[in-house]
Amino acid sequence: MTDRYAVFGNPIGHSKSPRIHKAFAEQTAQTLRYDAIEAPKADFAGAWQAFVDAGGRGANVTVPFKQDAYSLAQVLSPRAQRAGAVNTLMLGRDGKLYGDTTDGVGLVRDLQAHAAPLAGVRVLLLGAGGASRGVIEPLLEAGIASLTIANRTVAKAEELALLFADRGEVAGCGFDAAEGPFDLVINATSASLAGDLPPLPDKTFTADGLAYDMMYGAEPTVFLRWAAAHGARTVDGLGMLIEQAAESFWLWRQVRPDTAPLRESLRRELSQHS
Ligand code: NDP
Repeated sequence: MTDRYAVFGNPIGHSKSPRIHKAFAEQTAQTLRYDAIEAPKADFAGAWQAFVDAGGRGANVTVPFKQDAYSLAQVLSPRAQRAGAVNTLMLGRDGKLYGDTTDGVGLVRDLQAHAAPLAGVRVLLLGAGGASRGVIEPLLEAGIASLTIANRTVAKAEELALLFADRGEVAGCGFDAAEGPFDLVINATSASLAGDLPPLPDKTFTADGLAYDMMYGAEPTVFLRWAAAHGARTVDGLGMLIEQAAESFWLWRQVRPDTAPLRESLRRELSQHS
């Protein structure tokens, strides 16, 4: 039976993951099948079991199932434990279900691909949801000097900061209290989806500051447009999506795909659909 993989979400119709993983499989000559599966919101576990019965070996998990995947996994990687979320599931040879999160590695690799220095930089992370939580550990490991987490619901930013307080200079606050300037500002809110801009102070960026929005699209997000108007270099989250997928692929197949060709082709496709 062909090894099967899939991305689980709800909704899942517009996911680029099947496109990405098929390209990785072709490039590395791996025989596998990868689908998009819209699981019922109330029965992620049932959908996963049906998938395993049909030859499923591993999966990516996206909104709203990252917590369900976390609960279902029998063995969690340390980074998934710390993030409190799982975006990659895999069946081990021992029959156990392993859970990991690759979002943080994906972000750090994409920042590196854009020659964004991390060691010693001051970082402002916007948002305190799943995506934000998953990238904190890898950012701290990359040697950033300080991390300020700012969120609309301030208490959530403060709680998240407390979780990582033993790891260095980490603080939580509201958007308007984010005391810059920062070398790197990462938008991990879903505000861009609604065309909203977190209300940040004007002096948010250093002179050579970088703005990163985890969201991506044919056009720059409202956050990236605002950042560019304030003198920052801007990067969207398309590369993060590709890099987190590459890390999942490696976990499943022990083969690391070259992400560069896909970065170019997906960017071209995005701009053609604008
Ligand atoms: P969650 O639902 O877990 O968290 C959403 C966060 O956004 C919360 O902090 C919430 O604040 C904040 N928020 C929502 N709406 C607004 C608004 N209008 N103004 C200000 N803040 C707002 O989502 P995720 O963390 O899972 O995802 C966040 C974003 O990251 C999404 O756009 C997602 O697509 C993207 N993402 C991209 C990835 C990639 O590979 N490129 C990977 C993972 C995520 P509050 O707590 O106050 O509700």
